[in-house]
Formats: sequence, structure tokens, C-alpha cells
Amino acid sequence: MSYSSSSGSEEDEGVDAYRKGGYHAVRPGDPFEGGRYIAQRKLGWGNFSTVWLAYDTRCEKFVALKIQKSAAQFQQAALHEVEILKAIAKGDPSNCKCIVHLLDNFKHSGPNGQHLCMVFETLGDSLLRLIRYNRYKGIGLQNVKYVCRSILLGLDYLHREVGLIHTDLKPENVLLVSTIDPVKDPIRSGFTPILVRPEGNLKGTSIVNSTEKRLKERAMRARARISERRASMGGLEHGLVQKERSLEGIDLKCKIIDFGNACWVDKQMAGEIQTRQYRAPEVIVGAGYSFPVDMWSFACIAFELATGDVLFSPKVGQVFTEDEDHLAQMMELLGKMPKKIAITGSRSKDFFDRYGDLKRIRRLKHWPIDRLLIDKYMFVESDACELSDFLTPLLDFTPEKRPTAEQCLQHPWLSNSGQSFMVETKGVENLETGLGKLQMKAGR
Ligand code: ATP
Ligand code: MG
Repeated sequence: MSYSSSSGSEEDEGVDAYRKGGYHAVRPGDPFEGGRYIAQRKLGWGNFSTVWLAYDTRCEKFVALKIQKSAAQFQQAALHEVEILKAIAKGDPSNCKCIVHLLDNFKHSGPNGQHLCMVFETLGDSLLRLIRYNRYKGIGLQNVKYVCRSILLGLDYLHREVGLIHTDLKPENVLLVSTIDPVKDPIRSGFTPILVRPEGNLKGTSIVNSTEKRLKERAMRARARISERRASMGGLEHGLVQKERSLEGIDLKCKIIDFGNACWVDKQMAGEIQTRQYRAPEVIVGAGYSFPVDMWSFACIAFELATGDVLFSPKVGQVFTEDEDHLAQMMELLGKMPKKIAITGSRSKDFFDRYGDLKRIRRLKHWPIDRLLIDKYMFVESDACELSDFLTPLLDFTPEKRPTAEQCLQHPWLSNSGQSFMVETKGVENLETGLGKLQMKAGR
């Protein structure tokens, strides 16, 4: 059910899906729920919905309004999401577990059908935007540690207290609590809410005007890209390299969003989960899954925050599939997949021979994480070894051996993150698994 989300790209949702069963067209000033919520501007979109900044006139605050497509399968998915979000909010009354809070939900009828709407606290930019903002150079290890703690707090709560697997963790689905640019934050910038639909923006103008506007915006973006490229090429000619920016002053607190694909651990849905680059090996081979799939994705995110690059970026080849390339990349980084895992999945025979070797990609070049960090990303050796000690156990092919979020939170790599967090720590019983290994390695 998981699609590689397009909300991360700077493209917009297009006009095609604004039809019966699809998105609901919204204009600033549009009222929802009997006038309680007034649409302000679009915040984002996904395959299932558009999300708008709205003003809650009853509570006099800004909220994020997620308006689902109207066809039956989207309504069904939204009902499932609401049920999950309610369970999440119920167990976190003080809203401190780094997961987005649902505030309200209702139905809204429009020309394209009936849309389930969810009201959330407003959050800011995604981690993907943060990575882009810093020009894919990584966000600095102290910042990585801080962000990792937030994600882990959220995951620990989800897994241990709620019994949920997120199944679609990726940088787009973790949002900062505020925006990178303070001017874009409605609260910090003192944005005056629109309370009535502006004149001249009435019926009939919407789609045509917005299509024109989008085309204009696209052309402007294309021009901006060209001049950016020219500038960077010019920079190269002059021996200048674009430097990362300063992240000082950006609030790095963040929360996990998008529970559209989340599932209860005891009621898993069949089929493929997770977005490609963040997908765990057991999902690819069809060997069943549980909480550790989120831990795998978490490790991929941590790597990406540190380096600015995705950890795995599989491609189809002439003689192999994307799945096979993905498995090959994993084994080049982590060594051979244990035979037990490689050959027991429902899809194993598609990829592996009976010795547990890939059928169609034979020669693998081992390039472990610490070497990769040093050779390709120019990390100093101590930083590379420490990060590798943190990440390697999370990328264990055997899901049960991956440390839990709770165990990760106690890893020494996170303890000097320079920020204070309220962490509930409980005794860790199972030192046989991830944490034991983690601590032994860290003490090396
Ligand atoms: P997907 O295709 O990823 O499953 P979806 O339709 O289920 O998407 P979400 O991922 O929940 O929708 O939200 C879409 C986008 O809207 C996000 O990527 C983000 O940019 C924005 N967004 C969602 N929730 C909030 C929020 N609470 N505050 C600010 N922006 C938000
Ligand atoms: Mg999403």
C-alpha cells in the first residue's frame, strides 16, 4: 500500500486528481465544519490527501487540516488512520512523545464527494527539507543526535506502549515542530488569519487560475534551477564549492507524522510495506515483519541526516531487478545475509540460490559503513567509528537482533547530544540482543 511519496519532490499534486473520488479543491478562506475552521494556505500533499493550514476560530489557533480524497478506499484508509491516531493521542495526554497529535476529525461534502478530514497541531518542515536546505551536506553530528533522540522517543512510545508499527518512516514523514524559515511559521511571523474568502476568489476561478498559477510557478522554478546551476558551475570554475549553511537558530525538535500505513503489531496487513529506500530486507524477501522494520528505516534516516545521501538507492539493471540491486547493496555494506533469512522468505527463490547467494548479481564489493563514511564522506575516523557502532546493529539482517528504540535511547552515542530530554528509562533485561553488542562495541 505504500507509495514512494511524491510530497517530497517540489512538484505539486497536479490537477488530475481533483475529480469525483479524488481531492477536494480548497481556496483560502473556505470554511469547514460549520465555519469553525477556515482554510489559509496549502502546507503539503500526499497520495491520499492535501493538507492545509487552517485557523480554528473556536480555539483561536492555527491547525493543520488534512483533507482525504473521497473514494471509498481513501475513506476507509482515513477511518483506519483516525482510529490509530486516537489511540496515539489517548496514551500521550501531555503531548510529549514526539508523535503528531490528532485534535479533531469530521466529514466534509464537496463537489467531488465526501471527504474525511483530520485536524492536527501544525508542524513545520520535514527532515527532507532540512537535508535539502543544507544542500545535501548532512546536518552535523550533534544535530543528527538530537533529531535521532526525538525519533527514537516517538518509536519507543509507538512500539512499546501503543503496539503500533509505523511502516513508512522516512525523512518526509518526520516534521520539525516549526519551519526552517521563521517567516513561514504562522505563529512566529504573527500571521493574521484570513477569516473570510477574499474578494474575487469566488466560485469558478479556482481550477483555471490555479492551473495557470502552477504553470507560472513551475516556469519560475525551472529558471531558478538553471541560474542556481550556473552559479554553482561558476563557483566550481573559480574553485569555490557551495558550503553547507548554518542551522543555528532552527528548532530541531521534531515529530513523526503520517499514520496512513501504520498497523497494529498483531493485525498486520499482507503485502509490501515501506518506501523503497527505507525498506527492510525481511520485507523484500517476504519473511514477515514486526517492529524491527521501523528500526531499519530509522537507521537509514540517521545515515541520511549525517551524510545528506540516501543509504540505499537501488536501481533496475538489464539482468536484475530493483529488489536484487537493493539486496546486493545491503550485502556490500553489511556482509552476506545469513542463509536462514535469505532462503526462508516467500520470495527468496526469486533472488537467491540454495547456498544463499544472489542468483544474478555475483560479485559484491564489501564496503562497510565506517569505511564508507571515511572514504566517501570524509568523516574523521573517530566520528565514523562511533556512528558505525550506532548504526550497524540496527542494520542487522536478523530482525530480532536489531536493538529496540528503548535500547537505542541508552546508547552512549546519543548521550552527548547537548540537549536535555525527558526519557523514561527502564531496566534493560535483554543484553544478549542489540544493546549488549552496542555497548561492547562502544567500549572498544
Ligand atoms: P502519503 O502519500 O505520504 O501517504 P498522505 O496523503 O497520507 O501522504 P501526509 O503524509 O500525512 O499525507 O501529509 C502530506 C504532507 O502534508 C506532509 O508531507 C507534510 O508536508 C504536510 N503535513 C502533514 N501533516 C502536517 C502537519 N501537522 N503540519 C504541517 N504540515 C503537515
Ligand atoms: Mg506522507
